[in-house]
Amino acid sequence: MKMQRIAVIGAGIAGLTVALRRARVGDEVSLFEANARVGGQLWSETQGGFVIEHGAEGFVARSDVVPPLALEADIANHVVEQLEQRSFRFDGRGLIELAPGEAGRLLGFQVPTDDLGRGIRSFRHGMSELPERLALALGAQVQLQMRHAIESVTTRPGAVTVLHANGQSLDFDAAVVATTARSAASLLGGGIGAPAYALQESPLLSSLTVTLAYRRDAIAHPLDGTGFIVPEPEQLSGVRAVTFSSSKLPHRAPADHALVRLFFRPSEQDLLTLSDAAWAAPQNEAWRLLCQYMVLPSGLSSRAGRMPYRCSTPLIARASPRWKQRSWAARFGSRERRFTVRG
Ligand SMILES: Cc1cc2nc3c(=O)[nH]c(=O)nc-3n(C[C@H](O)[C@H](O)[C@H](O)COP(=O)(O)OP(=O)(O)OC[C@H]3O[C@@H](n4cnc5c(N)ncnc54)[C@H](O)[C@@H]3O)c2cc1C
Repeated sequence: MKMQRIAVIGAGIAGLTVALRRARVGDEVSLFEANARVGGQLWSETQGGFVIEHGAEGFVARSDVVPPLALEADIANHVVEQLEQRSFRFDGRGLIELAPGEAGRLLGFQVPTDDLGRGIRSFRHGMSELPERLALALGAQVQLQMRHAIESVTTRPGAVTVLHANGQSLDFDAAVVATTARSAASLLGGGIGAPAYALQESPLLSSLTVTLAYRRDAIAHPLDGTGFIVPEPEQLSGVRAVTFSSSKLPHRAPADHALVRLFFRPSEQDLLTLSDAAWAAPQNEAWRLLCQYMVLPSGLSSRAGRMPYRCSTPLIARASPRWKQRSWAARFGSRERRFTVRG
């Protein structure tokens, strides 16, 4: 087949994978990324022996998509397995163990029923390893252009025109839009009309996570599980789940420390108005209340009203940026909604 010139918009895991695949079959690919880093919703930060995930923490253990990608990225030997299997539910008083798979069901994970309860895998240095190393493996046939936001994708007979935010326009044989739904709607709206505008209507949920690090002996709970879910109506200030990150996966914290991650489903108002510092504040009401139940040594529970508790002195607090998570985001790599436009 004749070599084609392909534009791929978005260097998240989907865009990187398409770029790699097209280059492997001989196409010439231009990969445009608006951001200064690749990976999109896969974003890990490493600091002082901690691995902090701002987006995805892992991939389903039975994935048959990610391991081959890891091989292509030359990090197959960096895959790490989930260490704990038990999960809990907070019932307003304490933690109740859940049946296998129930946690995923309660959180509404969009994974096949068979995958529920089978756990996840990740990479030694966090999920970012995959996109970062894939970007290095792209080869000469892919031109990766960072900080290149694309404004529109339009078609005319025999060509697709990609317009840069800087006003430059380029023609390709085909374009793949591998961005979030809203971004795809605005990119494609002028070119394909109704189907793109329908994307604009796709339901979105916001997600915000706060990661807290502690000295291990500051937490009395054995942290012998993956974490716990806080179902409604017990939800506390929007906290819907807490992951014991350093128990769930290896290499997330130095040996004498622990890392926990709080998941919020913030209101639009809070998302827009509260600063990262406010979300991460050690005195975060929800965490303080949860600490009374699960973190303080039981013998000290009578001190529950006193501040600061030992668990409210985090060494690192990171609030993830204000994500607009696609509610239909499923296992990456196999189920992405991508739009291919041909001239
Ligand atoms: C908090 C959180 C936790 C998650 N946990 C998990 C998990 O544990 N397991 C799991 O499987 N999934 C998880 N997910 C979902 C998973 O991270 C995503 O489904 C996946 O990373 C999406 O990849 P993508 O390449 O499709 O899109 P994205 O990662 O969103 O990448 C899109 C890229 O396009 C770029 N872009 C956008 N517009 C333009 C433009 N106009 N021009 C140029 N570039 C543009 C963006 O900058 C971005 O880099 C989680 C997501 C979040 C937010």
